[in-house]
Amino acid sequence: MRIASLASGSGGNAYIVESQGCRIMIDDGLSHRETLRRAAVLGIDLDSIAAILLTHDHADHVFGLAAFHGKHPEVPVYANAMTALATRRSDRLGDAFRYFENTQEFEIGPFAVSAFPIPHDAADPVGFIVKADGKTYFHCCDLGVGLDAIGCHLALADMATLEFNHDPGMLMESSRPPHLKQRICGQRGHLSNYDASALVRRFASPNLKTLLMGHMSGECNEKNLALAVLDATLAEMGRADIRRIVLSQDEPMGFFDA
Ligand SMILES: [Zn+2]
Ligand SMILES: [Zn+2]
Repeated sequence: MRIASLASGSGGNAYIVESQGCRIMIDDGLSHRETLRRAAVLGIDLDSIAAILLTHDHADHVFGLAAFHGKHPEVPVYANAMTALATRRSDRLGDAFRYFENTQEFEIGPFAVSAFPIPHDAADPVGFIVKADGKTYFHCCDLGVGLDAIGCHLALADMATLEFNHDPGMLMESSRPPHLKQRICGQRGHLSNYDASALVRRFASPNLKTLLMGHMSGECNEKNLALAVLDATLAEMGRADIRRIVLSQDEPMGFFDA
């Protein structure tokens, strides 16, 4: 199994998970033209996408969905019922949806997938565990608190994408209005570098080999700040062996082997 990011951050999110020639896309938050362009950079033909999985209904995760469905009406979109309802309200998606229930495992080609609930201000937001080829991938961005119940899923992972959204000091000093600052650092907002690192410290197992740092804020974080916080944590843990990669908002990255 291997993973690529087409984009990660509040300007759009899309990730490709591949195994045995089968590809699924997690979220579809870029314009269709940009999804097409970035996929091509990685050698991916969008005709090869077998399914799309949705984490939640925010625009930066579903913006491209209606256009994708228009071009590829045969590709199912997997979401829980609340996310499907909230997404369908704003898009013409017809019969694209296949519903899953949180925590119930389902299969797409070689992948066994299950979704777990996360605290975020969307209809019914989830993270995913994707298993294939004897490996487990943990995908979790857009969450306000690193709950133990989420850490228990991280503990299973060989590879993880985890949100490192903001530096608390930069967020407070930013020009964002007070209500937005409150939202971002609130219980249903986004994880700071410290929150994410604490989750890794408490729950990463010896199996975890690769950590993709996702959904980084352009205005309220810096790559080097996030890496410094994580590296201090990994040093405390004696886990310099964990490969860590900061995902980009602007450029596709990957593939990374699980
Ligand atoms: Zn987002
Ligand atoms: Zn969101």
